[in-house]
Amino acid sequence: MPSKNAVTDIRTDQSYIAGRWVTPENGESFTLHEPATGAVSGQAVLCSETDLDDAVVAAKSVVSEGWGDNGLPQRISYLQKLIEILTKEQDSFARCIAFEVGAPIDFSLKQQVGTAIGHLQATLAAAQGLELDVTPNPGMPEHRERFEPAGIAGLITPWNWPLNQIALKFGAALIAGCPMILKPSEYTPRTSVLFAQCVDRIGLPRGVFSMVLGNGRIGSAMTSHKGIRVISFTGSTVVGRQIATAAAQDFKRVILELGGKSPNILFEDCDVDTAVRQGLAHCFRNAGQSCNAASLMLVQASIFDRVVDLAAEVARETQLGLPQQGGLHLGPVVSKAQFDRVQSLIGSALDQGARLVAGGQGRAEGYGAGYFVRPTVFADVTPDMRIAQEEVFGPVQAIVKFSTEAEAIALANSQDHGLAAYIQTGDPVRADRVARKLDVGMVQVNGNSRLPGAPFGGTKSSGIGRESGVWGIREYLEIKSISGAARQSDS
Ligand code: NAD
Repeated sequence: MPSKNAVTDIRTDQSYIAGRWVTPENGESFTLHEPATGAVSGQAVLCSETDLDDAVVAAKSVVSEGWGDNGLPQRISYLQKLIEILTKEQDSFARCIAFEVGAPIDFSLKQQVGTAIGHLQATLAAAQGLELDVTPNPGMPEHRERFEPAGIAGLITPWNWPLNQIALKFGAALIAGCPMILKPSEYTPRTSVLFAQCVDRIGLPRGVFSMVLGNGRIGSAMTSHKGIRVISFTGSTVVGRQIATAAAQDFKRVILELGGKSPNILFEDCDVDTAVRQGLAHCFRNAGQSCNAASLMLVQASIFDRVVDLAAEVARETQLGLPQQGGLHLGPVVSKAQFDRVQSLIGSALDQGARLVAGGQGRAEGYGAGYFVRPTVFADVTPDMRIAQEEVFGPVQAIVKFSTEAEAIALANSQDHGLAAYIQTGDPVRADRVARKLDVGMVQVNGNSRLPGAPFGGTKSSGIGRESGVWGIREYLEIKSISGAARQSDS
C-alpha cells in the first residue's frame, strides 16, 4: 500500500481536460486539511469558467465524431477495463480516502472502495442486458422506441463517499453514451485525481471524460452552462435546490441525490439487542457522514427504556481511532466546518431539552487535534427539535418515542426528507404494511441490505431520480419515438 506521503504526493494543481492534464491559469486554490490532525495538507486548484468551456468544447467535438451514436459493446468494454484497473488500485484508493475523509482504512477499503466497485459491476450487469432500440410490437418493426444519450453531463459529487458517488455517475453516463465533465468535491480532490488517472488508462476518446477541480463556483457555472444538458448532483439539499433552480432556466435534466434524516422504526416485537446494535452502527458508520444514516430512531413505548439504556452503552463502547489504524472504529469527521456544525446541532438538542445519555459536545477524549466527535445519543427527543429534523452528518443518534404503528408512520412521514427508512419487527405482515406506507425512496427491513443495482434515491427534499444499475443508466437517456422507419442496422 502507498504511504501517507504517496497520498500527499498526488498532484492537485492540475485538472484533466480533454484527455490531458492541464494547469489552470487563474492561480486560485483551496487549502486542504487532514481530518485526523487538522493540519494543512496541501492546496487544490480551483478551475475557472475557461477550463469548463474547454471541457465542453471537447465533449461537443467527441459527440460530433459519433460518440454515443453507436457502440454499446465498446462502451461496455471500457467499463470492464475500468473495473479491472480500479480493482488493482483499490489499496491506493483506500489509503487516499482514509487520509482525505478520515475514514478508517479497513472501512475505506471494504466499504468506500468495495461499494464503488460493486456499483460499477452492477452497472456493467445492467448494461449487458440493455436494449436501446426497442420494437414494442414485433409485427410492426417500423414503430420503434429508441433510447439515446441525453447530452453532455455535468457530474457534481460530495466528499463523504468520494469514489462511490463518482463511480455511480461515471458508469451510468458512460454506458448511456453521454460525454461527461466531473466536478468533485473540493474536500476530496486526491481521490478524484486518482480516479481520473485510472480513466486515462482505459483509452477513451479525448473529450468523453474531463474533470475540473473546484468549489461551488465552478459547480454553479456547470449548472448554467448552455452546452451541458444533464446535471447529476449528489450533495446537500440546500445546494440541490439552487441547482434545480438554475437548471430550470434552460430545462436541463437534473438528477438530485440529496440529504436525509432516515427513521429507523423499532417495534416492540423486534429483536431489541440486534436492532439497537445494528441501528447505532448504521448511524455512526463513516463517522455519521452518510446520506442514508439511520439517525432518527423511533422506538415503541414498551421497549423505550431498554433501547435507550442499550444505545447509551453501545455509544460509550464505540472506539475511535486514527484512520490509518486497522480494525472497526470511528474516525474524525471531514473538516472543521463539519465538526462545528455537529457541535452546534448537539448544542441545539441540549438547549431544546433532549436528554443526553452518551457523548456530548467537545472533541473526543484522547485527541488533542483533529475533528473527532464523541459518539452521542439523545433520548426524549421530540419531533419539533432540530436534532429530529436536520441532517447532522456526525455520529449522533436521536431517539423519539411512539405508541402506535400509525403514530410511527406519521412521525416518519412528517420529515421533509424522504431518502431511506428502516423497520425492525418480528411480524412480516407489519413489515410489508409499514414499508408500503412510508414516503421514502428506500426501505430496509431487519438489517437487510439492498441488492446490487437496486434503485438508490429519495423523495421530497431528498431529491429527484435514481442511481445504480439500470435505473441509473436510464437517467442519462432520452426516449425517441420513431414511426415509419424500421431499424436498418444493429447499432
Ligand atoms: P454540498 O452540497 O456542500 O456539496 C456537494 C458538491 O456541490 C460539491 O462538489 C460542491 O463543491 C458543489 N457545490 C457547492 N455549491 C454549489 C453550487 N451552488 N452549485 C453547484 N455545485 C455546488 O454537499 P457536501 O457537504 O459535499 O456533501 C454532504 C451532503 O451530500 C449531505 O447533505 C449528504 O446527505 C449528501 N449526500 C447525498 C447522497 C444521496 O445519494 N442522496 C449521497 C451522499 C451524500
